[in-house]
Amino acid sequence: MSSDDVGSPQQLISSYWVDRHYTIAKVGADWDKFAIENGGEELVSPQIIGQNLFSYIASDTTRMYLRLILDHVWHIHHQANKPYRCDSPEIKRFMQMQISIDDENLLRLDHYLLATEPNSPPVHFSGIRSQNSNLIRRCSMCNRINVAFSWVDADLALKTGLITDPKQRVIYTVCGDCNNP
Ligand SMILES: [Zn+2]
Repeated sequence: MSSDDVGSPQQLISSYWVDRHYTIAKVGADWDKFAIENGGEELVSPQIIGQNLFSYIASDTTRMYLRLILDHVWHIHHQANKPYRCDSPEIKRFMQMQISIDDENLLRLDHYLLATEPNSPPVHFSGIRSQNSNLIRRCSMCNRINVAFSWVDADLALKTGLITDPKQRVIYTVCGDCNNP
């Protein structure tokens, strides 16, 4: 997600449903509008329905983490709420993912926007695939980066000089705080 059109707080941003095999079964009414506004012509519903959800998640760690949460909902809890961040360069977006099993025995994922704050300064990081452990790691759930032995907001790290490149390349992972489904 990358649109700066953040809308009003507590807004349902997108919904989709997956089956037992995590195949995308259907999407919410606003999905295609959302996909096109966010520059994802390849993400419109005819392209994604029938595809595996996890094929759209680049980071191995993030994929494993989400898989664990979704497996928990199927087998144990039957619903869960997970806060996460979906920042654009200019805006911190505080999101919540609500996962439940619906009447058709599909797993329903609703993504809500809870609040926004400006990123100051803007953060233009890009994720790369690498085994190089010297690269900076960024949590794909809370969007913080790992510098100076702690996890901090990217704009704070830039503002305080912990990092200097606003176009820093990062490896996406899941931090210890977020990794507790
Ligand atoms: Zn995190």
